[in-house]
Amino acid sequence: MSKKKRILSGMRPTGRLHIGNLHGALNNWIQMQDKYDCFFFIADWHALTSDYENPGPISDYSRDMMIDWLSAGISPEKNTLFVQSHIKEHAELFLILSMITPVPWLERNPTYKDQVAQIAGRDLSTFGFLGYPVLQAADIIMYKAYGVPVGIDQVPHVEITREIARRFNYFYKKVFPEPEAILTSNPKILGLDRRKMSKSYNNAIFLSDSPDEISSKVSGMITDPQRVRKKDPGNPDICNVYDFHRLYSDNETVATISKGCRSAKTGCVECKKIMTQNLVRSLEPFREKTQYYLSKPDLVNDIIINGSKKAQKIAQETMHEVRAAMKI
Ligand code: SF4
Repeated sequence: MSKKKRILSGMRPTGRLHIGNLHGALNNWIQMQDKYDCFFFIADWHALTSDYENPGPISDYSRDMMIDWLSAGISPEKNTLFVQSHIKEHAELFLILSMITPVPWLERNPTYKDQVAQIAGRDLSTFGFLGYPVLQAADIIMYKAYGVPVGIDQVPHVEITREIARRFNYFYKKVFPEPEAILTSNPKILGLDRRKMSKSYNNAIFLSDSPDEISSKVSGMITDPQRVRKKDPGNPDICNVYDFHRLYSDNETVATISKGCRSAKTGCVECKKIMTQNLVRSLEPFREKTQYYLSKPDLVNDIIINGSKKAQKIAQETMHEVRAAMKI
């Protein structure tokens, strides 16, 4: 049995991963996989909370997501990688926790009202959408995770999980530890149009994009809006392309771009070309590994099945304790 502290994190399968996902979550996971006993799961039931009318692609997206994780360097040997819906115990614990969770706790969830307002064209006034923090709590406490890696804006989600665990322990018996929020830092990276990078905004560079696709996307990126002509000095500090340089170019190039932009010696076309080359080079190993996993469908299936079996064994033990504590 691993002596490392256990952490748990998941992603909703909504399509191929983009470089915002890489810098926002995957790179943190890669760093954590040597330090913690990591459980990473594909939250396909969570995808249903908003995509319940069109669940058809979720299964393919789940598989694509696993391939993206593996290609990015998430190791199936070091971590437990699984698909949420393969472990029906999550649904049972969700049901039990929904019995003890007061509705006002869910209604005060800061992201709930925001998302209902922001996600246009879908009726999110469902029990499932309101109750997704309960499902999230079930996912986390099922494995008695010590912690959950989150950005600062997601800390309230961990807090509600702690409250639900505390309430269960108070009513029945202490079964669940209260998980900690492990704050992660994410470098600044925005979409092509400077909004949050998101598939639904059509402003993302995907990890699996070809060099030509990346080049075409970068050529349309918004730069310093004050710099209309090449002879105008620019301000890299407000330019999205420069933020990408900081992530994908070496220090010397970053310094040269900064100087060249401010003095109007470097034009945006040239600047984007250099950044594209560095970005394409950086994603090359990912593309190679993706081709490898795409050519080995049985290997990917085995990774999903083995990881899900390992997770389910723990979930079954937890549910045994839960039923005993409740005498049901
Ligand atoms: S030269 Fe580069 S950093 Fe400067 S405004 Fe153009 S794209 Fe941005």
